[in-house]
This record gives sequence, C-alpha cells and structure tokens, in this order.
Amino acid sequence: MFLAHLPAGYILTNYLQKKLNTNRFLWVGLVASILPDIDLVYFYFFDHRQTLHHSYWIHVPFYWLILGLLTLIIIRLTKKQAYLAATIIFFANIFLHLLLDTIVGKIEWLQPLSSYAYYLFDVPAKYDFWVYNFIFHWTFLLEITVIVWAVYLLFKNYKSKN
Ligand SMILES: [Zn+2]
Repeated sequence: MFLAHLPAGYILTNYLQKKLNTNRFLWVGLVASILPDIDLVYFYFFDHRQTLHHSYWIHVPFYWLILGLLTLIIIRLTKKQAYLAATIIFFANIFLHLLLDTIVGKIEWLQPLSSYAYYLFDVPAKYDFWVYNFIFHWTFLLEITVIVWAVYLLFKNYKSKN
C-alpha cells in the first residue's frame, strides 16, 4: 500500500469509535495507520537502502502482538479503563497497516517461526522509477477506492456536525 494508509486508518477509526462509543482518539488511529512507515526514514537516511524496509521490526506483526498484549496487561493491572479504547484503536490501525502492506508488499507474518514474507500480488519492476511500478499496477485501483471512500466519509461526518 502506498497512499491509502491514512484514508484507510480514518475509515477504520470511524468504525471503531462507533463500536466503542467514543468520539475521541481519531488522531491515535491516524498516527498508528502510518506509524510503521517511519522505517522509511531509517531506510533512506541511515541504512542507505540496504535492508528491505518491510524487514525492519516495525513491519513485523509479532512485535506488535507482544506490545499489544503488554499494553492490555498494563491497562488491566492499573485499571485505567479509559485507555482501553485508545489501545484498541491504536493496535487495530497498526494491524490494518500490516494487512494492507501484505497486498503488494512483503510482510513476515510468521516471525519468529519463519522469515517467509507473505504477499498477495507481485508488482513487476517495469519502470526505472519504482513509484510508477505501483501507480500503474491494477492494485492501485484499490488504493483509489479507499481514498474515495474516506473522502466521502469525511464529508458525511462534516455535514452531520454542521
Ligand atoms: Zn508499510
């Protein structure tokens, strides 16, 4: 996934807010929806593009699972129920990011048992500029659909508030 992480995060967070009966934590969902991609900063500026960016720990579901479980335990022990909704919204968006990255990216879903990287569709490297490979692939239509959906939802929410 390329451009639709943030719009997808908006859609999911809207849904979860309704389910959890809250109108808070939209920003938590939006930040989490793009958070794993901060490894791109490391990829370009520190690692000199040596490691495929989906191989960094921040794109590995296992570590998020551990962090999520630890967070739930801490909430339970400290009885800070108010943070439960924020935690659910945060980790749901992280896993949504990883799921969407699995469409054409490569995600190591079975780490640490296996380092096999799962993906649904292969995007062939046809163009020198790698961005074009994704934009001119049919899966980009999925991204456009998500973006249109999110914009529609945004307008709908805006209208109902005014
Ligand atoms: Zn990503």
